[in-house]
This record gives sequence, C-alpha cells and structure tokens, in this order.
Amino acid sequence: MPSHNLAYIKIDELEIIGYSVAAEETVVAIPQLDVCFDIGKAPNQIIPINNILLTHGHMDHAAGIAYYLSHRNFCGQSPGTILAPENLLSPIREVIDAWSRLDGNKVPANLVGVKAGDEYQIKPNLFTRVFPTKHSRGSVGYSVIEKRKKIKPEYAKLTGPKIVELKKQNVEIDYPLEIPIVTYLGDTQYVDFSQLKYVVESKILIAECTFYQTEHAERAEAGRHMHIGEFATLIEKLQNKHIIVTHTTQRTPMRDIRRILKEALPPEKYDRIILLMDKRCK
Ligand SMILES: [Zn+2]
Ligand SMILES: [Zn+2]
Repeated sequence: MPSHNLAYIKIDELEIIGYSVAAEETVVAIPQLDVCFDIGKAPNQIIPINNILLTHGHMDHAAGIAYYLSHRNFCGQSPGTILAPENLLSPIREVIDAWSRLDGNKVPANLVGVKAGDEYQIKPNLFTRVFPTKHSRGSVGYSVIEKRKKIKPEYAKLTGPKIVELKKQNVEIDYPLEIPIVTYLGDTQYVDFSQLKYVVESKILIAECTFYQTEHAERAEAGRHMHIGEFATLIEKLQNKHIIVTHTTQRTPMRDIRRILKEALPPEKYDRIILLMDKRCK
C-alpha cells in the first residue's frame, strides 16, 4: 500500500519514483537498479530497495533512515544498506541507537561510510562511484555504472572454438567497458563536473535546481544550492540524454519554473528536461 504520492518517470526500461521539494523532502528511487538516493522520509514504495545512497545529512534528505531500517526489519527483510559520507557515520549510528532504545527493538543496519573516489558494488555487474559535491562538509554525489566486458575489435569475428583456444592461452580478448546509467548530484552549488567522464556520459542526470528568480541568486549562494544560471552552465558541458530536475522550491510555481527553464536553456537541452515534481500522477 503506497504511503506517498510519488512522482513517476519511465525512461526506456527504467522507472524512477520520488518526491523532491527543497527543505521539505527528497527521496529518488530506481527500483530496477536497487538504489534510492536520499531518504527525507521513508515512503512504503522504497522499503524493499536494498541500497540507500545518502548525499548529506540535512533533515529533508536523511530523516527517513531509521524508519526505513526499522520497517524492513518489521517486514522480515534483510538489514538495509546505507551508504553515507564517512563523517556522518557516527551521528547516524547514534540516531539508530537512540531509536532502538526508544522503540524497544534493535534496528539492524548495514552502514557503509564513503568518500569521493570510492566504489561500492550493488549487483555483480553494477556499482556506484562516489564523487564530491559542494554543499555541506563531506557531501557527495553518486553515479551508478554498469560494468561489462567487450570483445576487442580484432577478435570480434572469431568463432567460438577459436575464442576458447585463445582464452586457454591466457590471451586477453576483451576489455572492461563502463556504462554510466544514472548520476545523482544531490544538493550542491555549481561544480564543473565536465572533468568526470562518467558524469558527463551518464544516460540520466538527476540534478537539483532550487532557485529560479534573479533576486534569489544570493539565497542560492548562501544555501549552497544551484541557481538557474548555474544550472544552465552545468548542463551545457554535459552530454546526458535525460535530465531530471529535483529540489524545486514551493516559492516558484511549477508553470513559472517550466517557463524560466525554457528561456534559460537552448532548445536541445530543454528538450531533455523532466521536472520530477511535474510528474505526480495520482
Ligand atoms: Zn535539500
Ligand atoms: Zn541540503
């Protein structure tokens, strides 16, 4: 039974569900990849997902942790895994311990501290890579990347038996290939991510853009969030096919956000934009 009216987006075979309003709640899940980015509250739809990828500790992104872990336990599921910036592990542990005492039942958890550059395996061929963002101390973003092996072009036309023979001779006939599927920036002010190939080439980019009016540029700077002007610069240098905008504000009505995005972005970029909170269907 859904506890939340979540937005729903389908991109090819991937379903993205979530809710993201600045200062209120942010939770963005991709069930097929078994990941949920941030967990401001813990809607029932995301309880079965095994991996929570936390970008920073602000309440509207992290308050659902204890309920998520506890509810999984209640439903007989394995302890959930929380990836979080390593400087937050100790306060997260304290929160979980406090809830365990309050509730009278131990809340099992698999906590994994991460820092920029780390990789964590989600499934045999799927892993997440961690990169730094500019929002709060230790804040990070995550890319989810599929690893495949591809046969080198010079061996592509060989028959099965010939390939077996070469493998027996320990000839490296394939090379590792990385396919970045989705990148989630979390809260961040502008950073030039064009240095990170896996961010640039991610099929889907999920990015915050909190402020839209010219007079809000200072607020964006103060809160270390993205303003529309910076967002335009950010995506100009990236090649993502689909760009999901999150962390919109209640200050600016959705129709105004759409109009301002259209004015600020070149058409080929605007065509790739999906506003998460515009996609709530129920
Ligand atoms: Zn936030
Ligand atoms: Zn924040």
